Amino acid sequence: MIRPIVKMPLMLQRAAEPAGPQDVEVGHDLLDTLAVHRSECVGMAANMIGVNKRAIVFAEGDGARVMFNPEIVRQSQPFDAEEGCLSLEGTRPARRYKKIAVRYQDFDFAWKEESFTGWTAQIIQHEIDHTKGILI
Ligand SMILES: [Zn+2]
Repeated sequence: MIRPIVKMPLMLQRAAEPAGPQDVEVGHDLLDTLAVHRSECVGMAANMIGVNKRAIVFAEGDGARVMFNPEIVRQSQPFDAEEGCLSLEGTRPARRYKKIAVRYQDFDFAWKEESFTGWTAQIIQHEIDHTKGILI
């Protein structure tokens, strides 16, 4: 289901609750909603579509992937980025890392750990910040 984008900072500045198997539909909603905003947006967190659960989606190649309860377990090579956000106007500076390792649950709620670099790593960091109520 395509959901409206939340733009009220107060709604976006709360840390999200852990997601569970009952939240699988949120993952599908994130995929559907990102798909319609894909020209202007490369990732989303569930609180941006009004669901205060720890779930994110990010563009990857021609498709997109969902992570539940993602957390960064390692990071290296910091750099200063300039980022935009579908929920905010304009761009803002953010400190990011070129390499990260993320622990997360997939659609079957199996725990996985995976490394990411570059642009994909940057998107994931932005979306994980959203799950903590952190805006750029
Ligand atoms: Zn954002």
